[in-house]
Amino acid sequence: MNVYDSEKIAGLLASRGYRITRRPSEADLVVVNTCAIREKAEQKVFSYLGRLAGLKRRRADMLVAVGGCVAQQQGDRIPARQPCVDIVFGTQAIGRLPALVERAEAGFGPLTDTGPAEGIEMITGAAAGGLDAGISRFVTVMRGCDNYCTYCVVPFVRGREVSRSPEAVVAEVRELVADGAREVTLLGQNVNSYGRKEGLCSFARLLARVNAVDGLARIRFTTSHPKDLSDELIAAFGSLDKLCRHLHLPVQSGSDAVLKRMNRGYTRQHYLARVERIRAACPGIALSTDIIVGFPGETEEDFRQTLELIREVEYDSLFAFKYSDRPDAPARRFSRKVAEEEKKRRLKAVLDTQEHITRRKNRQCVGRIETVLVEGVSRRNAAAGAGAARMQWTGRTSENRIVNFSREEGAAVAPPQTGQLVDVLIEKAFAHSLWGRAPAVRPVKPRPKGDACYAA
Ligand code: SAH
Ligand code: SF4
Repeated sequence: MNVYDSEKIAGLLASRGYRITRRPSEADLVVVNTCAIREKAEQKVFSYLGRLAGLKRRRADMLVAVGGCVAQQQGDRIPARQPCVDIVFGTQAIGRLPALVERAEAGFGPLTDTGPAEGIEMITGAAAGGLDAGISRFVTVMRGCDNYCTYCVVPFVRGREVSRSPEAVVAEVRELVADGAREVTLLGQNVNSYGRKEGLCSFARLLARVNAVDGLARIRFTTSHPKDLSDELIAAFGSLDKLCRHLHLPVQSGSDAVLKRMNRGYTRQHYLARVERIRAACPGIALSTDIIVGFPGETEEDFRQTLELIREVEYDSLFAFKYSDRPDAPARRFSRKVAEEEKKRRLKAVLDTQEHITRRKNRQCVGRIETVLVEGVSRRNAAAGAGAARMQWTGRTSENRIVNFSREEGAAVAPPQTGQLVDVLIEKAFAHSLWGRAPAVRPVKPRPKGDACYAA
């Protein structure tokens, strides 16, 4: 979401004549887009601002603007703590940033705007002239969250849930495709409640409308809340040819007692039944998840149940986090906090368990032909400046596995192009990626409907 917002910010500032530079030392304006989801992310903001303060001592005319969730949460306290900051703009003030910058350029400040948006389109919308426009882009379909999981700061800093109209979403996807995008990831904290409040179409219907956009090759989305994962959405994996075979379904914990205190609204059994259903509808679909270790009161037995669930589901990948107290989130007042050392140990156990599973799953890919959406020349190869004969490319499978590959020696066909779908024969598996060769570098047609998935 912050990447998407940064694109939007860059697009808005282009209207005031600003262009992107990657070097803060040559910038007239530095925009720091912040995350407050865990304490560590918040600490990073202030250490970065400390470095900018040093820079500003040499470049007094440079402006510093801080946006995002930390800005929303701390407002005026940011310039009070770090005087190099000229502008603080909250999560719903993005649309007003150009006006704030204009005032700061005129010498006013520090300025703070943590007020509400005047409408969802004020804080979303296509990003003309934004950051590096890759082939894979984000599109926000809804903002905020009404779920109030007890550990989470999102409802307090991003506000109540609100959805964009399907027309606005489809129009933005079309604009991005016209700008070179081949893949879009639709974003929302809980896409399954998309449009419910506003009486818009269901998320599955929205996916169908995006699926019809010409020139788009792939659709991904995140995040689907397990309590609301509908049969209609599961069926979409079987009927929409552009929808990738990957579902991110954050479980957070494998223990019912912990899930209850987290206010997640589902049980372990409900979650496992959903997984079974999605796998029946779409065999081979990749599943990923988020895990929090060391939630207040998490016992050794609760944690064992989480490890057991990870082994049972056999995720393709996961993100694991040590629980962190957040301002406003009720769990901060929960007793029986887990010691930092113990959280570290549990985090390592989760990551080790998953690594074992990922390696095994990656090995199973060897010998298969995978369709890869080419994202570009691989980084190592770009740096080495290798000749065309030894070039390596990088991309992802529908299941979101990273594949690095080279061309079959003496291949008569043209080298693969960024944005092309190519068939790659997988020859080696590593912990976090696959290696292969493109036997015949030819564009492949999108998978015919129902080829590998079956409607539920
Ligand atoms: N809306 C998504 C997740 C958004 S936050 C969902 O409901 O699944 C992304 C992830 O950060 C969460 O899934 C959770 O695993 C983690 N997270 C959120 N708050 C946290 C906290 N206080 N401490 C540690 N991890 C947290
Ligand atoms: Fe946070 Fe829960 Fe909302 Fe996800 S669903 S953003 S974890 S409150």
